Amino acid sequence: MKVGLCPVTNGISRAQFIRGNFNGSKQVIRPPWAVAEPDFVEACSRCGDCVGICPEKILETGRGGFPQVNFSKGECTFCGDCAGKCTSGALNKRNFDAPWPLLKAIIEPSCLALKQVVCHTCGESCPAGAIRFRISVGAVARPEVDPAACTGCGACYGPCPVSAVTIGEILAEAAA
Ligand code: SF4
Ligand code: SF4
Ligand code: SF4
Repeated sequence: MKVGLCPVTNGISRAQFIRGNFNGSKQVIRPPWAVAEPDFVEACSRCGDCVGICPEKILETGRGGFPQVNFSKGECTFCGDCAGKCTSGALNKRNFDAPWPLLKAIIEPSCLALKQVVCHTCGESCPAGAIRFRISVGAVARPEVDPAACTGCGACYGPCPVSAVTIGEILAEAAA
C-alpha cells in the first residue's frame, strides 16, 4: 500500500485527506453508497427516506435539505437500508463494491497515546480490526489505522475520550 509522510502515526498523511469534519462547516459525509457529490445533489430529491429509515439514527438532514452522516450519533453498520430505500439513484449500491471506499479514520495529535497516556479505546471499538497499536521500547503503544482495512464506519469516533479521531475522505491512491 502506498502511504505518504505521516504527521502522526496513522499511515494516512494529513495531505491525503480531501475532506473531513463531517460535523462542522467543511464538507459533509453523504450516506453510504452515495454517488459523486455533483451527481448526488443532482439526483437526490431530498425526500428524507434514508434519514428516516436508518436504524442507527446516524443520518440527518443537512444544509439544503440533503442527507448527511453524523458519527457522533453512532456508527454505520452497513445494513444497506438507506440505499435500499433510495429511489432517486443518489444512493446506489450497484455502483460500488464498498459503501465508502475513500472514507477512513485518522488519529489526530491530541490522541492520549501520542501524549504517552495509555489508551486503546479506538482499537477496541473497531469492528474491522483496522487500528493496531505500534509498540516501541520505552513509549506508550501508538494507534495506527490501516487504510485498506478501515471501512469508514465511524465506530471509533465516538468512544475516543479526547475526540482525537476524525473520519474523512482520502485520496484514492492512499486507499489502494
Ligand atoms: S447503511 Fe444502515 S446504518 Fe449505515 S447509514 Fe445506511 S441505514 Fe444507517
Ligand atoms: S481512543 Fe482516542 S486517545 Fe485513545 S488511542 Fe484512540 S485516538 Fe488515541
Ligand atoms: S472508521 Fe470503523 S473500520 Fe475505520 S478505524 Fe474506525 S472503527 Fe475501524
